[in-house]
Amino acid sequence: MAAGPVPAAARRAYVARHFALAYPTAPPLAGLLGLPGSGAAVEVPDYSDGFFGQARPYPPPPHWRSWQQQHLPFFFDPQPETPLLVLNADTKTVALGVDVISAAFYLLSGWQEYFSDARDPHGRFPYAASVQQQFGFATVPVVNYYFEVLKTALEHHSGQPLAPRRWGPAAAPFAACLTHDIDNLHGGWGTAARHALRQRQPGRLLALAARKALGRPAPWHNLAAVQAATARHGAPGTFFLLLNHRPTPGGPANADYDFAHPAWPARLAALRRHGAEIALHGSYGTARHAPALAAEAARLHPAPTGQRFHYLGWEPRATPAIVEATGFAYDATLGFAEHFGFRHSYCLPFFPWNFAQAQAHSFLEIPLNLMDATLHHPRYLQLAAAEILPALTPMLAHIAHCGGVFTLLWHNENFDPANEVNGPRQFHEIAALLQKMGGAFFTCDDIARQLNSH
Ligand SMILES: [Zn+2]
Repeated sequence: MAAGPVPAAARRAYVARHFALAYPTAPPLAGLLGLPGSGAAVEVPDYSDGFFGQARPYPPPPHWRSWQQQHLPFFFDPQPETPLLVLNADTKTVALGVDVISAAFYLLSGWQEYFSDARDPHGRFPYAASVQQQFGFATVPVVNYYFEVLKTALEHHSGQPLAPRRWGPAAAPFAACLTHDIDNLHGGWGTAARHALRQRQPGRLLALAARKALGRPAPWHNLAAVQAATARHGAPGTFFLLLNHRPTPGGPANADYDFAHPAWPARLAALRRHGAEIALHGSYGTARHAPALAAEAARLHPAPTGQRFHYLGWEPRATPAIVEATGFAYDATLGFAEHFGFRHSYCLPFFPWNFAQAQAHSFLEIPLNLMDATLHHPRYLQLAAAEILPALTPMLAHIAHCGGVFTLLWHNENFDPANEVNGPRQFHEIAALLQKMGGAFFTCDDIARQLNSH
């Protein structure tokens, strides 16, 4: 692995940059930080103990501490008996008892997956190998709470309250992206037929057979319906299109549709007229193959500003450089397929760490928090429809509290009314809950623009 030690100053600068994105009105953090005894406004101990100069994936286990009614894991916390923070009223300075800089850098940089050799059959870092799974905090954006500790220290120092980021012209307390990976348009006949049988509707069964015999569009040929479904919530959708319809040799299928079909320009124009964003769904294997990804991106006009990899493909040691080299402003791949939550323990878009160059990459990662398949799949979770909202609510409350972004992936095939498990009804319930909680909807491109504008 081409990675050298990460100096303390580089870790601090990376964390401070993201803190400024989370609290846009805060004074520059880096200049206010110092080691214990330095007399700095905010003293933070360095408990990294050489960890960022070697190639081990996991630090010592975290200690759990209470912070404003939350029970949170703190990595790099060898002295758990010291208070989390001590506010000095005379000097207006603050001494932290935990090394939140090292802990935030460790999680935000994705250190574990870069240095771990664990990969699943699709070459992805498995949830089972993560500290989030091991210590049970996948659905808590722990780094945002580390930032809240720093925010509290700065508020004590300056006497000024600091608010989390707000979103859009209405200054909404949190943002949500409703996104759709378009893998299949020609399927759904069998699903619809089984549904008609379950409902004891022989007439529908016959109508389906007639539609198929006449060569009519398949049930999953539903892009306009998907657009209308998101529009019901006042949301613009982000559609990730798969431009490769050839199966991967020895691997899974790509698109079941051919993007060269002459109907596509009119289809995309109709989606864009309704405010949708058209982005790229990098086909299987392109997460490790820069020329293939660039060739797919070049087929979309106007050029897509972002993308998400099919099968959530991601090789931490190669993919970030490929996304950057292709010139994307954002990627929207990084979530765990096996569990909803926060793969980098962070609920805002962030600039992935470039291990080879010891600095941030130039593109934003918009983390994926929930994929439809995760909720109900033989290899993932198997939640009943009624269990979905109660399971998601605590995660959404964290995002709302921290001023973050919730990104949902709902495939077009799961807008099929025949799907009663993770289908259109569950999509609408989640979108309605987001609205009720005060979230504002944006495309991924809009989210990236808002973060890049300050
Ligand atoms: Zn896909």
